[in-house]
Amino acid sequence: AQMMAKGLPKLKPIPNVKDIILVSSGKGGVGKSTTAVNLAAAMKVEFPEKNVGLLDADVFGPSVPLMMNLDDTPILNDKNLMEPLVNYGVKCMSMGFLMSENAALIWRGLMVMQALERLMRQVEWGPTDYLIVDTPPGTGDTHLTLLQNLPITGAILVTTPQSASIQVTRRGGVMFEKMKIPIIGIVENMSSIKCPACRSNIQLFGNGVDDLAEEFETQILQHIPLEKEINSSSDKGVPIIIGKPNCNEAIVYKKLAQQV
Ligand code: ADP
Repeated sequence: AQMMAKGLPKLKPIPNVKDIILVSSGKGGVGKSTTAVNLAAAMKVEFPEKNVGLLDADVFGPSVPLMMNLDDTPILNDKNLMEPLVNYGVKCMSMGFLMSENAALIWRGLMVMQALERLMRQVEWGPTDYLIVDTPPGTGDTHLTLLQNLPITGAILVTTPQSASIQVTRRGGVMFEKMKIPIIGIVENMSSIKCPACRSNIQLFGNGVDDLAEEFETQILQHIPLEKEINSSSDKGVPIIIGKPNCNEAIVYKKLAQQV
């Protein structure tokens, strides 16, 4: 808070990286990582000539290794920088690449900041048009570190239509406003389900996300349904946008990529 009062600290770009886009959520389990991964992969599909990176900044709960089917250890190049691992044309970096699967993550704040610094700065991203950053849930130290260090193009808020998620997403929105980070828009995830019998859409929860968008004078970018295949494809390490590029849900992610 003190730092904020004194004005924004100096931002340092990541060499060669143009646009840094944060994907954030108020709480865990709402589909933030799923959105970040599918968005990154969709951007590569939609704009094949662009270079896309995906930074998993969730040091405590990295999802990118599983969802992008990557588990090698990054090699260090002659500049002592880590080479990102690449799948589906997307350059990825995650804390999950740097520790063994069962390593206990009982870290103190300082170590987390060091890990994050490493993920941000000690990676040879190379020319990168879009760096999608999967942030941890909430509004903690990781966010402050990212926002105080990196020139962020904008943030996407991911929420489900449940009040419990919307309420904490609001806090994230306020944080971005305070830090003068543009809110690109909101992704409403698990928005509805399709009735297997009659194929009509069933709205499970309320429509509080509309109010949230209005409050932050932003738009709902996409409504993503709760769809078994989104989950099963993520679990297999093949994002739905890659595995089933022409299904309805993949098209929603493609539209999202066009909006960002
Ligand atoms: P977060 O990053 O917000 O913690 P995840 O992206 O890890 O959330 O998603 C939590 C779980 O919900 C995962 O198992 C994921 O596959 C599943 N999931 C996310 N979005 C959807 C969706 N639209 N339909 C079905 N399952 C989803």
